[in-house]
Amino acid sequence: MTSIKRRILNKIEKYDTIIISRHTRPDGDAVGSTLGLYGILKETYPDKRIFLDNEDYSEYVSFLGGEGEHPTDEDYKNALVMVLDVGTERRISNKRYDKGAYLIKIDHHIIEVDYGDISWVEEERSSVCEMIADFYLTFRNRLKMPLHSAECLYTGMVTDSGRFRFRGTSGETMRIAGELIDMGIDLEMIYANLGSEDFELVKFRASLTSKIRITEHGVAYLHISSAMRKRHKMSQEEASNSISLMEHIKGSLIWLAFIENDDGTVRVRLRSRFVEVQELATRFHGGGHACASGATVYSKEEEEALVSQADKLLYEYKKENPGLI
Ligand code: AMP
Repeated sequence: MTSIKRRILNKIEKYDTIIISRHTRPDGDAVGSTLGLYGILKETYPDKRIFLDNEDYSEYVSFLGGEGEHPTDEDYKNALVMVLDVGTERRISNKRYDKGAYLIKIDHHIIEVDYGDISWVEEERSSVCEMIADFYLTFRNRLKMPLHSAECLYTGMVTDSGRFRFRGTSGETMRIAGELIDMGIDLEMIYANLGSEDFELVKFRASLTSKIRITEHGVAYLHISSAMRKRHKMSQEEASNSISLMEHIKGSLIWLAFIENDDGTVRVRLRSRFVEVQELATRFHGGGHACASGATVYSKEEEEALVSQADKLLYEYKKENPGLI
């Protein structure tokens, strides 16, 4: 991997303008990795023009800060574009991502159709933030890491690994996290921001608990209508986070949240332990990781089909692997 990282560093050093993008509906890893890399490049190369360019925003990790000035079409002409944490091109939160002179992808999703002039993908990594921190550590004699970047990267590592619990978490993850902690990041501030919820949200989540359903073989699922969300004055993002309500139900090794979008389509969030759901997500216009994927359904029938296929998957899995909780 060092040779691909070296090729990326060479490109970074070659271009005077660098534009960084991430996936739509950003999470902690998408925001943390892009802001983290942005800070590293700004600090290391004060004479280069570095931009973040994305079309949406996340309230959840807004404490990490905003994106600043966006590049013009002219800026793209001789730019290096770096896309972080996006498995498939259709999910890039930037319609101009292919207007630069050179494109680099850095990602940890399972590859469906690859893209980019350089593609550095490590599917087993817990987060792209871990990859960016590793990139910095590989070239720490050439790159500078401001404290804020370290905090952004740590935040993404924490959120994407489920607080260092999910499958991708390795000894290397913990060593890299340790390096960031040793830089003096404010852990209390990060966890306070990640852990606090408005009282209205707490009440909304409580009201959703009674709406969780369980299929015959244990798939837990929840449908959140736009009407319900609006009644409680919740954003799409806040409603979507209710996927976590189902993660500790015994026997429910797969859990699904269906969140209605304003355009009538339904966002699906798929989560699991032990059993892999990524392939199921690809059957419904989605993808992602083995145990954390996303998809979209366009009708009630499609939603029912997804639940039923998840139930079948879990049935087969439990038959082969009895005794899992
Ligand atoms: P989410 O439930 O949106 O947090 O998604 C879980 C994981 O799957 C994330 O890593 C997403 O980047 C990825 N993902 C979500 N939706 C899609 C999709 N429609 N196609 C491919 N990957 C997705």
